[in-house]
Amino acid sequence: MSRFLNKKYKGVTPYVPGEQPQDMKYIKLNTNESPFPPDPAVQQAAAEAASRLQLYPDPDLLVLREKLAGYFNGKFGTGLSRGNFMLTNGSDEALNDLFMAFCGPDRPAVFPDITYGFYKVFAEVNGVPYKEIPLQGDFTVDADALAEEEGTIFLANPNAPTGLALSRDEIERILRARPDDLLVVDEAYIDFGGESAVPLLEKYDNLVVVQTFSKSRSMAGARVGFAAAQESLIRDLDTLRNSTSPYNVNRMSMAAAEAALDHDEAVQKNVAEIKEIRESTKAALKEMGFRVTGSLGNFLFLKHDGFDGEELYEALKARGVLVRHFKKERIAKYNRVTIGSREQMREFLRILGEITGSEEETRLRNGEQR
Ligand code: PMP
Repeated sequence: MSRFLNKKYKGVTPYVPGEQPQDMKYIKLNTNESPFPPDPAVQQAAAEAASRLQLYPDPDLLVLREKLAGYFNGKFGTGLSRGNFMLTNGSDEALNDLFMAFCGPDRPAVFPDITYGFYKVFAEVNGVPYKEIPLQGDFTVDADALAEEEGTIFLANPNAPTGLALSRDEIERILRARPDDLLVVDEAYIDFGGESAVPLLEKYDNLVVVQTFSKSRSMAGARVGFAAAQESLIRDLDTLRNSTSPYNVNRMSMAAAEAALDHDEAVQKNVAEIKEIRESTKAALKEMGFRVTGSLGNFLFLKHDGFDGEELYEALKARGVLVRHFKKERIAKYNRVTIGSREQMREFLRILGEITGSEEETRLRNGEQR
């Protein structure tokens, strides 16, 4: 730390993203990216936009916001318009804006104890007090306990890294119980399962839904996310965006996101395949003696009673497979594994079988008790 750092940032522990090895020699199942590249039409849109990089992008993102409203109105029969959307550089930026705009010393942030690790960092960097509400024994979110807290609630739904989700009815119950507090529903994984809260947006002025193009739309590298809410909330968020980074979504990413919405059938085909692979991988893991949560995301959360979580993570890494291990005590026995392509998951299961089989054998030979 230099002696020049503003003292308000001195205690901040930054978020540690999953490893991003640049040599690409791993089977990379650690950061919930899509195994599929974006549709050729999306790639072409980005390439065409590259020929106009001398010009700033549209800071109002009029076309993309219009398309997003149309997309959700088509899907849910809502009457949303572009004024209900703010686009950001990945949904992480939308989340940070929400902490900046709607939390503070008199309005703490509230989130489950096991959830997306960035919430805590956003709270710390923005000087926001926060309260963590324990998940229940089966890792489900305690909706009643959340609804008892004053402050801005951040709820990843489906939750990460468990993949478990609250129903739309349960979300509505929180909204009704706390009409003077905001509920932010982070739907990064919603396209892979669970009920979106988007149809509730018109009814509740205390709801914000955050989504991303990083997962189901295969665009993690483009960094596009958004917040959806009633117009007065979006205007507040836009004040912050225009006061920090009005050109926050670059030309290529904007064009790619527009094309992804125009070619949603390609996205849905990939989503269906990932869901199928998720279920077949889960069945295979159970046969190998793993316990697996009922994940609705593009990942599985698993543990084996015979193996320590970190030990398994290291053994997989040594054999060229990257998964995500979290050191937090309550989930230290678990690993989170992104759903890759069929070939990647076959290889993952084969290597995992080798590890669990051979280690188990060695232990038996050495007469070790587990
Ligand atoms: N929310 C959750 C729950 C996530 O897991 C992630 C991805 N790490 C994000 C938000 C942020 O994704 P992005 O910034 O790529 O949109």
